Amino acid sequence: MSSSSSPHPPPSPHRRSSSTTMSNARSSTPEHLNVLCACGLRAPLRTALTEPNVGRRFLGCVNYKGDNPCKFFDWVDPPTCDRGKEFGNSIVKKNMDLLKDVEDLHKQIIDLKKTETELKAEI
Ligand SMILES: [Zn+2]
Repeated sequence: MSSSSSPHPPPSPHRRSSSTTMSNARSSTPEHLNVLCACGLRAPLRTALTEPNVGRRFLGCVNYKGDNPCKFFDWVDPPTCDRGKEFGNSIVKKNMDLLKDVEDLHKQIIDLKKTETELKAEI
């Protein structure tokens, strides 16, 4: 072990000893991703759910639509590798299929309940 030069990363210039503000409970966005765009709004951290970037996080202005859309957009995560894309897409597709199945089953249950009430009424 060498002790001549310590490998400490430089700490923040001055520390406030009185209070430790260690959490911003309002948002789950990490501190370094708190980015203001030209609108002066904090660009929220979001996750892409569309091919080919499923699961890739980005910062995008909330004013991306409208008459005078803001073009602020920045990827947070590096491009997904081919395997990641393939896997992410397959998971999203599977999830959509399952949601559709659930919806169909709900409809079937409602229909069956209707039929049940009708049959009971006939007895
Ligand atoms: Zn903006």
